[in-house]
Amino acid sequence: CGIVGFVGKKKASKILVEGLSKLEYRGYDSAGVAVMQDGAIAVRKCKGRLANLAEKLEEDPVNGTIGIGHTRWATHGEPSDVNSHPHTSNNAEISVVHNGIIENYIKLREKLESKGYAFYSQTDTEVIPNLIDYYYEGDILAAVRKATTKMEGSYAIGVLCKDDPGKLIAVRKDSPLIVGLGEGEYFIASDIPAVLNHTRDVYLLNDNEFVEMTLDGVNLYNEDGEKIEKDVYHVTWDA
Ligand code: GLU
Repeated sequence: CGIVGFVGKKKASKILVEGLSKLEYRGYDSAGVAVMQDGAIAVRKCKGRLANLAEKLEEDPVNGTIGIGHTRWATHGEPSDVNSHPHTSNNAEISVVHNGIIENYIKLREKLESKGYAFYSQTDTEVIPNLIDYYYEGDILAAVRKATTKMEGSYAIGVLCKDDPGKLIAVRKDSPLIVGLGEGEYFIASDIPAVLNHTRDVYLLNDNEFVEMTLDGVNLYNEDGEKIEKDVYHVTWDA
């Protein structure tokens, strides 16, 4: 239901939870974050309020500065800890937050199962990190692009890859997603209020536009992998 992502030099988990709290009005049943930490992807997630997640992060902190966060409004699979996002590939290399519905997830799950992938949740979302992992050959943007050609339905996704720890990839189709452009720090979010504490300069993404975000900045690509340019939209209103 809500997505936030952060690439910068501050503690990501704090910025992610704060950003998600600005999206609470959309309603949700569970929340979670994935943060790059010590060369691995650390995930904290649970059913219930953002306060539960914040408590979990207090007991078991993650200190990395690149991450993705999610508040879930369950469409496939009951609200539960295991069904909460982020969802991670079997080998713990790819982590994904997702808003929307993958209509052909049963077909994709069966295909992935035939390739040896196991599934632990009841969500449609869990096919996404495993599908990206299946196509991953050293280029995470290319793998996400390839995976999306197989995904039917609606999605805004944020993706982390263990092998490429300085990068966040995102894309949307029929589900909202924006990019926030700060000073040496960058954001994704499903709605503008989530980034307004940090920046008023945003890119409003169209369907099938891909985001590649690092500390060096934000690159945008079309579905053919060609680099595109976009005007910066300056937000003048307050949330
Ligand atoms: N379809 C996904 C799920 O049920 C995402 C729901 C959402 O947009 O929060 O887990």
